[in-house]
Amino acid sequence: MPVIAVDGPAASGKGTIARALAKHFGLPHMDTGLLYRAVALNLWRWGGDPANEFEALRACDELGFDPADPELRREAVSEVASRISVYPGVRAALLKRQQQFARQEGGAVLDGRDIGTVIAPDADVKLFVTASPEVRAERRLKELESRGMNAHYRDVLADIRARDERDSTREVAPLKPAPDAIVLDTSKLGAAEAIAEALRLAEQRLASA
Ligand code: C5P
Repeated sequence: MPVIAVDGPAASGKGTIARALAKHFGLPHMDTGLLYRAVALNLWRWGGDPANEFEALRACDELGFDPADPELRREAVSEVASRISVYPGVRAALLKRQQQFARQEGGAVLDGRDIGTVIAPDADVKLFVTASPEVRAERRLKELESRGMNAHYRDVLADIRARDERDSTREVAPLKPAPDAIVLDTSKLGAAEAIAEALRLAEQRLASA
């Protein structure tokens, strides 16, 4: 059964695409960003310092969390998640859980930043979902507004750019397409079109495997 890796920057649509692929192929799905968010939420609740690697590492201990917890999606938690994900120790602490999920019998879909490059380099299908920073900022803004939160476009765009920079330039597992990944730019696609294209690409890749 197939392993499908979906990577890409924040608000590229990778989560929506990964969920749709999982549903289509009847596979379990893991949003790996939630693991980094859970560490960040732990740290944030204790009042720990994201600039302190040792404290970030402690926040990885006994990581239990509810994926439906709305606190995980807070902007403050996103920010801390992006900062603590540069630490090699934090990445190592979360590695096994992701690899076990990827290797389960029957296949799986995982989405994140380093699935096709580090977590599941042998994945049958690798998609790298991207979109321009401006389009992603618009999407994030709409999402925040739909949750009743106020934000300014320029702040959201600045945050997206800062996260891209941090995710792409870190030394361990930077955000970049695997050499054999299919790049899907969703800048000009609506959600339904992006999903249809991702399904088509995945079917095609699986048929040629
Ligand atoms: O995807 P999401 O925005 O929920 O991820 C939160 C943060 O976790 C990202 O900014 C990124 O720094 C980090 N992350 C990562 N590797 C992954 C998934 C997420 O470094 N596989």
